[in-house]
Amino acid sequence: MSNSETSYAKELATLGHALQQASQLCRRVKSELVISTLAKADRSPVTVADYGSQALICRAIKSVFPDDSIVAEEDADALRLPAQAGVCAEVARRVAHVCPVNPPDEVLRWIDYGDALGDSDRFWTLDPIDGTKGFLRGGQYAIAVALIEQGNVAVAGLACPNLDGGIGAEFMAVRGCGAHQVEPASGLVRVSATADCAQARFCESVESAHSAHDDAARVARALGITAASIRLDSQAKYAVVARGEADIYLRLPTRRTYVERIWDHAAGSLLLREAGGCVTDCAGRPLDFSRGKGLDRNRGIVATNGLLHGQVLAALKELGLGQPN
Ligand code: AMP
Ligand code: MG
Repeated sequence: MSNSETSYAKELATLGHALQQASQLCRRVKSELVISTLAKADRSPVTVADYGSQALICRAIKSVFPDDSIVAEEDADALRLPAQAGVCAEVARRVAHVCPVNPPDEVLRWIDYGDALGDSDRFWTLDPIDGTKGFLRGGQYAIAVALIEQGNVAVAGLACPNLDGGIGAEFMAVRGCGAHQVEPASGLVRVSATADCAQARFCESVESAHSAHDDAARVARALGITAASIRLDSQAKYAVVARGEADIYLRLPTRRTYVERIWDHAAGSLLLREAGGCVTDCAGRPLDFSRGKGLDRNRGIVATNGLLHGQVLAALKELGLGQPN
């Protein structure tokens, strides 16, 4: 380990252990035919695995770093409703498979450790299942955790339990120290050397509500990209570009008002940058993680191997898709 990595040794160890536990829970839930699912206020799904993963990761962080705060995607409000007592008990049972717990109150408390606003100098951000729709569909999903210090992502852990034909892959990165695949361990992760747009492969969301497929196709045409887009859910997209299996990740806004959430990009963006890539918004601005839960000073996401970044931003500008909000 390098000096900077050593100074985050405790964070990395905590993260590694937490991601293992959460991946185990998610895989187990996924292996069953029926997955208990609730609908959130925005009608997006949340499953027992989202809640269980959040409980395990928040517990792990708080037990080692009691003074750190956590900005997580979920909260336990719905599980406290009498109508959801069954789902609540199932979450507690799932968590108890992996880690000793006094169900179910303790699990609700652990989930709500994730209620911070992201307004402190040092905090964690967590997406317990990024790509819940992919998880339910049998596609890709990720468990994404990052430590943010003074508005910069300092440490990232990303587990993609369904990558590589279901074998799964887990990544860690420390700012300034490179990106590693730690499970199955395969060392440093590096972006591709593709410098010619015509040869580039780009990835995007499966869900057309999360990223404008038609605009991405226009950008691809303008760049002379001939290969069809690789569609996959979650921050697995950042991992695929970081490993050089794709060269570009485009996330183009589907509506003016949407503000990207920090837990959807903190871990993935550090992983890719440390693998030699570049991450900005559609106007070429760096992602600003100092604004609480949302990237409200950014619009959309452009992530590349670095070599292609300028060409992609130029194409977006040319097509009128690169304006600041
Ligand atoms: P993906 O799997 O890459 O499509 O992204 C999943 C994430 O998209 C979820 O965690 C949501 O936070 C986020 N999301 C929800 N609505 C939108 C939207 N309109 N635009 C972009 N992202 C969204
Ligand atoms: Mg997410």
